[in-house]
Parts: sequence; structure tokens; C-alpha cells
Amino acid sequence: MSAVAPLHRTLEQELQALLRGASLECLVCGEFVLHAGGMINCPECSSSLRTGAGAAEPLAVPHSG
Ligand SMILES: [Zn+2]
Repeated sequence: MSAVAPLHRTLEQELQALLRGASLECLVCGEFVLHAGGMINCPECSSSLRTGAGAAEPLAVPHSG
């Protein structure tokens, strides 16, 4: 009943990598995104993510278990 856990975790990791600037691929279409003013914009599918919220604090998520 927990088959979706690995997939969700992978997506979350990709999202975190994208927010940290470690990844430059759009999560929606896979094209290169543009970092500008605390926002990540995809010129291909026009999706956008806000990075300002997590930029001030380190997004450290230790594996506890
Ligand atoms: Zn895109």
C-alpha cells in the first residue's frame, strides 16, 4: 500500500535541488529554467517557483530513520 513513496521522495528531492540551484531542469517539462530575483521561471511551459522562502534558511533534511 506504500508503492508511491519512492516516486514522491524522488520528486521532492528534485524540487529541493531545483530550489537550491543544484538543478536547472524544469520539473514539469525538463527544459532549462531561469533563476531571476528569487524566482525560477521556465520559458518553455511558463511554470514558476519561488525560492525566496527557503533561501534564507538552509534546507537541511537529515534522514532520521
Ligand atoms: Zn517547464
